[in-house]
Amino acid sequence: MAKYTPMMEQYLRIKADYQDAFLFFRLGDFYEMFFEDAINASRELEITLTKRDGGKQDPIPMCGVPYHSAANYIKNLVEKGYKVAICEQVEDPKSAKGVVKREVVQLITPGTVMESNMLQERNNNYIASLSHFEDGSYAVVYNDLSTGENRIALITDGWDSVVHELYNQPIKEVVISSNLPQESQQQLIDRLQVTLSYQDQVNFNAEYRDLCENLNDERLMKAFSRLLNYIQHTQKRSLDHLKQAEIIDLENHLSLDMYSKRNLELTETIMRKGKQGSLLWVLDKTVTAMGSRMLKKWLERPLLVRNQIEERLETVDGFYHSFMERDTVREILKSVYDLERLSGRISFGNVNARDLIQLKKSLKKIPELKETLNLFNHKQIEQLAESLIVPEDIVSLLERSLVEDPPISIKEGSIIKDGYHEQLDTYRDASRNGKKWIAALEQKEKQDTNIKSLKIGYNRVFGYYIEVTKANLHLLPDGKYERKQTLTNAERFITPELKEKEQLILEAEEKSVELEYQLFMEVREKIKDYIPQLQYLADVVSKIDVLQAFATVSEANNYKRPKFVDQKLSIRNGRHPVVEQVMKEGSFVPNDISLDQDRSILLITGPNMSGKSTYMRQLALTVIMGQIGCFVPCDEAELIIFDQIFTRIGAADDLVSGQSTFMVEMLEAKHALSNATDRSLILLDEIGRGTSTYDGMALAQAIVEYIHQHVHAKTLFSTHYHELTTLENSLAKLKNIHVRAEEYEGNVVFLHQIQDGAADESYGIHVAKLAELPNALIDRASAILAQLESSDKISKNTEEDHGSNQLSLFEDENQTKDIKDTNASDADLVNELKALNLLEMTPME
Ligand code: ADP
Repeated sequence: MAKYTPMMEQYLRIKADYQDAFLFFRLGDFYEMFFEDAINASRELEITLTKRDGGKQDPIPMCGVPYHSAANYIKNLVEKGYKVAICEQVEDPKSAKGVVKREVVQLITPGTVMESNMLQERNNNYIASLSHFEDGSYAVVYNDLSTGENRIALITDGWDSVVHELYNQPIKEVVISSNLPQESQQQLIDRLQVTLSYQDQVNFNAEYRDLCENLNDERLMKAFSRLLNYIQHTQKRSLDHLKQAEIIDLENHLSLDMYSKRNLELTETIMRKGKQGSLLWVLDKTVTAMGSRMLKKWLERPLLVRNQIEERLETVDGFYHSFMERDTVREILKSVYDLERLSGRISFGNVNARDLIQLKKSLKKIPELKETLNLFNHKQIEQLAESLIVPEDIVSLLERSLVEDPPISIKEGSIIKDGYHEQLDTYRDASRNGKKWIAALEQKEKQDTNIKSLKIGYNRVFGYYIEVTKANLHLLPDGKYERKQTLTNAERFITPELKEKEQLILEAEEKSVELEYQLFMEVREKIKDYIPQLQYLADVVSKIDVLQAFATVSEANNYKRPKFVDQKLSIRNGRHPVVEQVMKEGSFVPNDISLDQDRSILLITGPNMSGKSTYMRQLALTVIMGQIGCFVPCDEAELIIFDQIFTRIGAADDLVSGQSTFMVEMLEAKHALSNATDRSLILLDEIGRGTSTYDGMALAQAIVEYIHQHVHAKTLFSTHYHELTTLENSLAKLKNIHVRAEEYEGNVVFLHQIQDGAADESYGIHVAKLAELPNALIDRASAILAQLESSDKISKNTEEDHGSNQLSLFEDENQTKDIKDTNASDADLVNELKALNLLEMTPME
């Protein structure tokens, strides 16, 4: 049987180690892919699939991308969740015996990209690793390779918490042990939509000793090692910017389960998956990308410890009250570069001279920032100023070594300043003197020959030459000049002394370019030693940026500093921070809320679209804003510190895992009931709606009772089961509230005002009227209602109701037909309404 060619043999050997990645195999100016890789890549990248003879009978499928434009193809694949192994020629083909040696130099995976074209400035790019232990505990480690950040958490309360924890953080890839149960692996893929990677090596590498020094638990060390081993495996180089793993103390942060994080649209909206419309979108008045990333992290983990919260609020207060100085701070921050990511790139070895000049400029801005911060006359802000420590050695090194406006390339010289390095100066002198000599020679030749237009030029092929126009050729003496090139109008000559000088100049230039490259690398190496200082500085700058952002947004939107109290939550004229932004100014109706020991469950009734869920979310968002240290949207707030927030809001179906709406509802409820404490906040919106009326109502009531008797969490519960309002009589801590609506000239007007007491029952029909359904239909509905009200209450809720006693708009086909008959435009409207998928819409839509 025919064998593969030696190169294909080499390919197959390397590919065997990278089964789960596209192997980009360097062949000259191309990265080639073969076999399955080629077939898949040609499909994913829309590039032509060809064939290549590989020694065996059948040709091998092949496709390739040019080396110089590979970055975009790699990005494309990695963004789709694939991995790409970059296999380079690692010896000079000229000196190679047989097949050129090739090695994978980097494995690019969704969670480990370092390339700026694949990173979003204002977002971290996290990879996580998950380890499970015999005692039933888990450890989760997060790493952002671009910033060097590492964080680790030990989870002792089961698998569910692991999924919630991982969901809380935007991650692209999870590194696990291959013996994590299959079912758990599937859940990670389904729920988190991440790329899974395997790393079974958890042995402790001596190189990591410093990084692991602060971990005193063997489980944490193992978990961290799993991640570090994987990073080592993908990057194939040691990385100096990785920081010690910060231990996430889950006990000290407000915990938000995955449902809440999603439902409350903290960092992205459910439907669009984008930042716009989220709380982050409103709050993000940061100036720097690093500040923006930190704000997002704060939002994902609000605080629990009172004095930490107060500390932030106090600083925000300082920034809030001196807006002129704050503006100056914002102005200065604009010229501070992303020091955090820059540190990563320095360590990774891909910064150029321009980056380092940016670094210098940023560092030189810091004293000004410090001065401005001291103008606030504010203790906390002065402390921040004090922690701004500039590694002066870097500034002076960069000042001495690099020119102000270097080229992008680091291999073509013009980077290093004169006077920085003696040898470089000598080369440069030689080249400069040589050029001067040539200029002088040009003058002399002009005089000697009496040819005014004679000139000395340079090109890459012939080097320096003397050019004389054809008309003047007769003036040249014989013998001295050697003809090199003939142009239409001129001839080019060389002389031995010109060539001699040329060689000196070119040699000096070549050497100086080489030396400049070396010197630049040295500068870069020296800066590596300062990475921890730069990272610390980046951290302080980010913090300043976030806190000034809180002040800026608080001032712009008229937020107030909350007071934290122990017992009674009360907010006067509270607003929904996002909804009020998208509404016409002044049209959002503020509402009060109060909750305490004796008033811990609020049962909210009111028609659809009246503002129940807005009211509930508003409370949760206000609580979160307060606990990250921001002012809150209201006239006055006394808040209590919540340990956890649970929500069941809206119709956020867990479509991915294929569960029914009702099942999801129940899972979310279960999660809340089994984890909430008396310090938690639970928001349940229209629970029980997903099943038949009796069923749903029974469950809703039982859930409220259970919370009242066993959980004692502060709870907002909205319902369309009007029957539940009688619970106020039996449950001491439950109070009815409702959203006020008024009839005005026969129509309902939503006032979006919350009031004590239960709502009037017949709003459904008013809503239908508001939606401008035909009068005939409204009349008919009123008649049915009257009929129902006069008969036994039970008859109202027969099984035929199909799960809802709210007015169903479209169930009666005959009625729809009537509508069509009466009025064509109404029919259009009905059709349009029918076509809507309510389960996939946001309240705003
Ligand atoms: P419900 O939960 O009662 O069905 P929503 O809370 O979804 O109603 O609110 C419906 C719409 O009413 C919102 O999208 C918003 O436009 C408006 N709305 C809600 N609350 C207010 C308010 N306090 N002030 C002004 N408009 C509001």
